[in-house]
Amino acid sequence: MDKIRLGRTGMMVSRLGFGGIPIQRVSHDEAVAVVQKCLDLGINFLDTANGYTTSEERIGDAIKGRREQAIIATKSGARDRERMEGHLKLSLERLGVECIDLYQLHGVSDFQTLEKVLAPGGPMAVLEDARKNGVIRHIGITSHQIDVSREAVKSGRFETVMFPFNFITAEPEEQLLPLCREHDVGFIAMKPLAGGALDNVTIAFKYLFQFAEVLSIPGIEKPHEIEEIVRVLHGPLDMSEAEQREMQKMKDELGTRFCRRCDYCQPCPEEIPISLMMFVDTAVRRMPSDRLFTGFVADAVEKAAGCDECGQCEERCPYELPVREILAEQVRLFREAKQRYEEQASPG
Ligand code: SF4
Ligand code: SF4
Repeated sequence: MDKIRLGRTGMMVSRLGFGGIPIQRVSHDEAVAVVQKCLDLGINFLDTANGYTTSEERIGDAIKGRREQAIIATKSGARDRERMEGHLKLSLERLGVECIDLYQLHGVSDFQTLEKVLAPGGPMAVLEDARKNGVIRHIGITSHQIDVSREAVKSGRFETVMFPFNFITAEPEEQLLPLCREHDVGFIAMKPLAGGALDNVTIAFKYLFQFAEVLSIPGIEKPHEIEEIVRVLHGPLDMSEAEQREMQKMKDELGTRFCRRCDYCQPCPEEIPISLMMFVDTAVRRMPSDRLFTGFVADAVEKAAGCDECGQCEERCPYELPVREILAEQVRLFREAKQRYEEQASPG
């Protein structure tokens, strides 16, 4: 598989990487098998996170005896020094490696948090010391907020930035990629299928593969999923006219309903986690019921049910999403799913 240079890390990575969220959902053996399948296909970039429950450990098992074939990236959402030290140690143990190729500050999506993680003696300092000592090789950042990502790139302290990128969330094309080129920062595209909203794999990846320096990391659960994407990469990459029309159609349909998770709509006076609520339908489809109906999604739905329809979020959303309408739909959908679950759990 073609390799690209990941910014000034200098690491040569396959254009297609592996996103390690979905392997939490399958059995241990299935997870190991799918990671190994990716390595067999020439995919050398494996991304995971300290917060993805079993993902690091499963990737660690998959690369046993094949360490030199893999570039390992993980991340931590720690916002203070002690927690970052703990997460780094845990990542090394779970992955079973002595050195992690890329360690990223996870989900830094507002300026206050960026300042906090970069403060002297904070999480960034832990990573910089670890890089000096050879425990990690490179440092990156992940975010859903384009202005914060731009600031991180300009700070000169990060070698990579990971941001959602697909033909619906296409803002990076003009607002982030040129800056990454200028600062020689590697760009990693998360959510290439818009978190499951795009089901036309060919069009989604033909769009991304136009950008020669972009590393895409689709979340992969089953071997056939990665095989399908690799087929796109090996075929003609130009979009036919019919495909371009189809892409435009999907943009028109989804563009005004699809949340970019940028959180520009915040603060909500009712403290409703709006961007989380926008993906309740995905959570209903994908999360195990016991976690769905008792955990953080259920809490968010309860809060969203208290939306007083003030409309402030809609005034702030740059994509003009009908937030109130979508929230109401998500609350209804969640409650219906919960009712079905409870009826199945106690029939009669
Ligand atoms: S309309 Fe609802 S979700 Fe939006 S800001 Fe007001 S209370 Fe929050
Ligand atoms: S509703 Fe709009 S502003 Fe809020 S996170 Fe989604 S896209 Fe961003």
